[in-house]
Amino acid sequence: MFRGGEIVQLIKDCLFPIFCLDCQTEGEWWCKNCAQKSFTGGEFYCPVCHLKNLNGKSCFNCQAVSSLEAVAAFFNYQENKTVAELIRIFKYNLAKDINTLWSQINLEFLYSVWQSGGWPYSGITIIPVPLHTKRQRERGFNQADLLAKNIFEILKKDHQNIEFDNLNLQRVKFTKQQAKLNRQERLVNLKDAFIWKEKKSPTANIILVDDVFTSGATMQECARILKKAGAQRVYGLVMARD
Ligand SMILES: [Zn+2]
Ligand SMILES: [Zn+2]
Repeated sequence: MFRGGEIVQLIKDCLFPIFCLDCQTEGEWWCKNCAQKSFTGGEFYCPVCHLKNLNGKSCFNCQAVSSLEAVAAFFNYQENKTVAELIRIFKYNLAKDINTLWSQINLEFLYSVWQSGGWPYSGITIIPVPLHTKRQRERGFNQADLLAKNIFEILKKDHQNIEFDNLNLQRVKFTKQQAKLNRQERLVNLKDAFIWKEKKSPTANIILVDDVFTSGATMQECARILKKAGAQRVYGLVMARD
């Protein structure tokens, strides 16, 4: 028996075959070969002022205004036009495509993140940036959730005391899409948007996962809520940032 999603995928595969954006090989949006060639070990900048550094930590002057300890990204979407196009495509495409692609380079990316120093080894919970249930129903999936699960599966092999939680950080306000708003509107939009549902505190170290980090307002707000709930340090892992 086929499930609805599989039938849709099957029809899509037949009607709209996909080709690698870089080398035009049929079958994938970005083939493993091209993805590997583009990957330069990850992007590490201060989450606030975007100054490049070794491990993605907030620089000394920015720490006072950042709830995030550090952020690391697979790619810089300003510098990599293929990645910018992929992000646009995946936002409105079926989950299956996105997950296979990013899982190919996850391993190498995560290795370079932990090599950079300053990232936690235990007492970690991996949490995806949540979508509002209404938006998730519209889209059929939360790409951050798929990415986070993937990262968890890799990290749990060599990290102890590591958990995955996609239930307790919730988006309770249905907001306009951040991408269409200016900075001031983004902050208003995010006010009271997230809650930590659980009565007990989250673990000391949280790794928040999302697809894109632009102004960082969404991730900073999630980090603020998690710290208010008792987390000590919140780190961010994303596919792409500027
Ligand atoms: Zn290719
Ligand atoms: Zn900074």
